[in-house]
Amino acid sequence: MRKRVTLVKYGISSGFRGEGEMDEDLLQKTVEIVRRAKRVVAFTGAGISVESGIPDFRGPSGLWEKFDPMEYATIEAFQANPKKVWGMLKEMAQLLDRSRPNAAHRALAHLEEMGLLSSVITQNIDDLHREAGSRRVIEFHGTSRNLVCMICGRIYDRRAVTLDTLPPRCACSGVLKPNFVFFGEPIPWGAHLEAKEEAGRCGVMLVIGTSAVVSPACDLPVLAKKQGAVIVEINLEETQLTRYISNWILTGPASEILSRIVGAVSEAIHCRSQAV
Ligand code: NAD
Repeated sequence: MRKRVTLVKYGISSGFRGEGEMDEDLLQKTVEIVRRAKRVVAFTGAGISVESGIPDFRGPSGLWEKFDPMEYATIEAFQANPKKVWGMLKEMAQLLDRSRPNAAHRALAHLEEMGLLSSVITQNIDDLHREAGSRRVIEFHGTSRNLVCMICGRIYDRRAVTLDTLPPRCACSGVLKPNFVFFGEPIPWGAHLEAKEEAGRCGVMLVIGTSAVVSPACDLPVLAKKQGAVIVEINLEETQLTRYISNWILTGPASEILSRIVGAVSEAIHCRSQAV
């Protein structure tokens, strides 16, 4: 039995009652707010990709048990010993190559296709939102699709670069780094600006599979809330946001919850268009 979460502040009780049994009333309310909102934005974290086989930083996993992210994911660590960090990055690249979008990624792409989702702001670097068909994806932490030269800034397609000898190098001999931010690096300027704009003008923010502890990404739901948005959180457990920022919490796997919500939204739209 999964735990139920009650938000006393709003008097809204929500969550899964048991395996596959979602509160129908809550589902309908969520469907309605998504349908009626002027602008819906999704803000995603590592949790949305766990069901695609990519471990998050917190749950039990192979990769992060072997490589402590705090030891391997800082820019200082990369600069000090790129060969060592590339040992971890190579395993991560192999994992990413095997991963495919899951039902949660596909549900968000479908919501956008129906004209009901303005954008996906993602902290993930795995490219699975684009692969699922989402068109407006703001990659807050950059992407693993490309590598960038630390000296001349030339960009390479990751799949076109051999990882036989580490670290991989540019034609200019500079070390190549994945084009995502390590801890200690600034957020890409354009993505930061666009994400703040989207957060600041949405009516509903779906916050999916993030512990909301990585800064400054974790400020986005707070900004959205301050500007009057309804925050709908989808997670397996409570987070920093649950008690003070989220209006609604849907507790359970993102793939199942989003499939149900987007399926019901699609059905409601279909029924309406047939009735007109
Ligand atoms: P996090 O690891 O700190 O937290 C993941 C959250 O997802 C947790 O709250 C967990 O309860 C929840 N979760 C796990 N499985 C879920 C599921 N099936 N359905 C719903 N929720 C689920 O991740 P974060 O908040 O994104 O922060 C970690 C940082 O590391 C971010 O910058 C992130 O982008 C990066 N990261 C990215 C990837 C990726 O690209 N896939 C993977 C690991 C870490």
